Amino acid sequence: MATAKEPSFRESVDLMFNRAVALMDLPPGLEEKIRVCNATYTVRFGVRLRGQIHTFTGYRSVHSEHMEPVKGGIRFAMSVNQDEVEALAALMTYKCALVEAPFGGSKGGLRIDPREWDENELERITRRFAYELIKRDLINPSQNVPAPDMGTGEREMAWIADQYKRMNTTDINSRACVTGKPVNAGGIQGRTEATGRGVQYALQEFFRHPEDIKAAGLSGTLDGKKVIIQGLGNVGYHAAKFLSEEDGCKITAIIERDGALISDTGLDVEAVRNWIAKHDGVNGYPEGKYIKEGAKALELECDILIPAAMEGVINISNAANVKAPLIIEAANGPITAGADEILREKGCVIIPDMYANAGGVTVSYFEWVKNLSHIRFGRMGRRQEESRHQLLVDELEQLSADKELGWTLTPGFKQKYLRGAGELELVRSGLDDTMRAAYQSMREVWHGREDTHDLRTAAYLVSIGKVAASYRALGL
Ligand code: NAD
Repeated sequence: MATAKEPSFRESVDLMFNRAVALMDLPPGLEEKIRVCNATYTVRFGVRLRGQIHTFTGYRSVHSEHMEPVKGGIRFAMSVNQDEVEALAALMTYKCALVEAPFGGSKGGLRIDPREWDENELERITRRFAYELIKRDLINPSQNVPAPDMGTGEREMAWIADQYKRMNTTDINSRACVTGKPVNAGGIQGRTEATGRGVQYALQEFFRHPEDIKAAGLSGTLDGKKVIIQGLGNVGYHAAKFLSEEDGCKITAIIERDGALISDTGLDVEAVRNWIAKHDGVNGYPEGKYIKEGAKALELECDILIPAAMEGVINISNAANVKAPLIIEAANGPITAGADEILREKGCVIIPDMYANAGGVTVSYFEWVKNLSHIRFGRMGRRQEESRHQLLVDELEQLSADKELGWTLTPGFKQKYLRGAGELELVRSGLDDTMRAAYQSMREVWHGREDTHDLRTAAYLVSIGKVAASYRALGL
């Protein structure tokens, strides 16, 4: 965690914002309008559990309403506080602008350790929290749309959606009040893994640019790269799984709450995940070396470091020891403003959170659109696409039947070409396109402007520019 000398999470975000804004020419006052958080609602409510009333504290923060609805996850953790929620809401504003998801920024949190309560108790607490937010329109399909974050997942989102429906029985768009729902309760294929998938697509895009690979002091492709991952939760697990199974990366360390596993030959992500589910930690896992002080593994040699757990883990106390030449911030705010400076001076390339973990909100956007249009993506066009492909395949087959022409279709071509895109394929295609386009907008600024030397400043410049343009369009 960050030391006392370090700015708070929100101050860290503001410092990074200010660094970028100093390079812009914004009208007086607009800069502050964009930076400040519009409102934070704090609620304290009681739930009778285990024979007594327990009081819980929750927050919903709205950073910017230049576009509505506003969007941002709900976090369940004991560390939740107003400063954290406001920092995360600000990041949501910049993130949505960067990936062109038409939302303002918001975030919510409930101070609770979800592991202390059983499923039934958690449902009652979640529904009660949702009730408090819904009655103030802080959950609403056209005003404020939450999603999962640390400590929450599709189960909690389904409870929230159902709570909204019970309180708004005639709202035909009620399902669009929250994203990250299970597929059989109005969710979309590919949402659960979207943030981790986005991290993979971000790295794939980075490795398409030789100049950028060189800037990190690396070479070649993702294949064989040594990767250290912190946090094997929703985001970290999926990122590590896809990178190791599909891109040939070697996961040389996994850091969890109770320590870290280290293996030069690479860890089996699926097996470690199953171990954690059974034993509530990585300790005792039969392969690799276990160390109790997990954060020390952030300092090991590797090609790519992926902090995917929480904020402030790379701070002024350990930044100088971090050896990774490339860090991708899968978590929100894992590198403090002070650490960011130390790492930049060392020449480390950082792919910033507002871009790196934007896969979640991107697919949430698709889910929200699906809910509002009341139809699954691909339902209208898939078979039509297949029948047009069939026409071409029939023609090609006729030609290949002609022995004199002497050519045939490649094995497997027909099957692959004929298959029209279903919802999952379309979601992946939309996500990949979004991650590529957003990366390119950042790297144009990174390499194109003499006063911009890092991807984070570039990301802020792009996103603040977009937010400023929409405020200007509103006449501000
Ligand atoms: P999660 O609760 O599913 O997983 C968090 C993981 O980190 C857990 O496995 C937990 O045991 C581990 N962890 C907690 N404290 C740790 C510590 N001190 N050291 C090592 N590991 C620790 O949460 P998540 O949804 O994967 O979110 C992780 C991060 O990604 C957060 O910063 C969140 O804001 C960000 N994020 C999540 C999403 C999403 O779609 N879920 C989207 C964007 C950003």
